[in-house]
Amino acid sequence: MIIALAGGVGGARMAMGLAAVLPPSKLTVIVNTGDDFEHLGFSISPDLDTVMYTLAGVNNPATGWGRVHETWNFMQELAGLGGDDWFRLGDRDLAVHVLRTMALNNGVALSDITMTLARRMGIRHRLLPMSDTPVRTRVVTSRGELAFQDYFVRLRCKPRVQGFRFAGSRRARLPAALQSIIHSGKVSAVIICPSNPYVSIDPIFSVPVIRAWIKHRNFPVVAVSPIVGGAALKGPAAKMMSEMKCEVSPLGVARHYGARVDGWIIDRQDAKLSPHLEREGKSVVVTDTIMSTRAKSANLARCTVSFARLLAADRA
Ligand code: GDP
Ligand code: CA
Repeated sequence: MIIALAGGVGGARMAMGLAAVLPPSKLTVIVNTGDDFEHLGFSISPDLDTVMYTLAGVNNPATGWGRVHETWNFMQELAGLGGDDWFRLGDRDLAVHVLRTMALNNGVALSDITMTLARRMGIRHRLLPMSDTPVRTRVVTSRGELAFQDYFVRLRCKPRVQGFRFAGSRRARLPAALQSIIHSGKVSAVIICPSNPYVSIDPIFSVPVIRAWIKHRNFPVVAVSPIVGGAALKGPAAKMMSEMKCEVSPLGVARHYGARVDGWIIDRQDAKLSPHLEREGKSVVVTDTIMSTRAKSANLARCTVSFARLLAADRA
């Protein structure tokens, strides 16, 4: 069993590749829920939805969030009636928020409604939230501490970041399915998708059971760098890294994760960094990491899985 840790768009692209090369029984994707929030009465899980829509083939590749062939009648009417329209919710997208919210209000676990929705969308691989109870990313900025979506969507990531906090992580309740994976001893590798280190992957590590499981692992952890050629392909990862005084390169990301990662996959554009990573004790593979097509996602996934198997064999 391979476990992938994922945020939104980078996580979803990698998850799509992994799902193309691994059977459903061999892959579970654990998704960040630090971006989740309550809005207009709905429980919204942006990263879970991005991964779910991408695996189902109904995502909007232009925006990186939401659904393709979307319409916006609800949003228009809402704005016309004076409702909050800073967070865009499409008509098709709404169906998921309504069903998730109803389920949570009826006491169904987030992981259960996630698995139900994913199955109904035709997804055969297992998709799980990192926690069944709320964990909320808080961004400490030059304008004070902000809720994640306030920082990310409403303020368009403009305030300078000074730190992050994951409210609720200490008492996070692990999904039962994740608990049994951890206790099964059947995990052969963990793959960290090329997602934002601060606001997609760190929230997952902030869950104590997950952090301890990785710390005391008997399997390799392989990560794909979200930074390529000194920049992020999408989103505020590079801006956050420089504001956090972290070098904007795969080396900076590697130092951020430290001992939690054994092997790094970096892009050809960053090939010259490979000896530096090796000097820090990491195994390195250099390849194309820009997943602009399904085929490229699958190629990167194949390469990542072989690398992980090689490292696992080295440990044995
Ligand atoms: P978000 O939750 O939607 O912001 O998405 P993630 O945290 O999962 O992903 C954001 C990160 O993914 C950014 O730092 C991007 O640079 C990275 N990313 C997106 N697509 C790709 C890709 O095709 N290859 C690589 N290497 N990184 C990517
Ligand atoms: Ca996200």
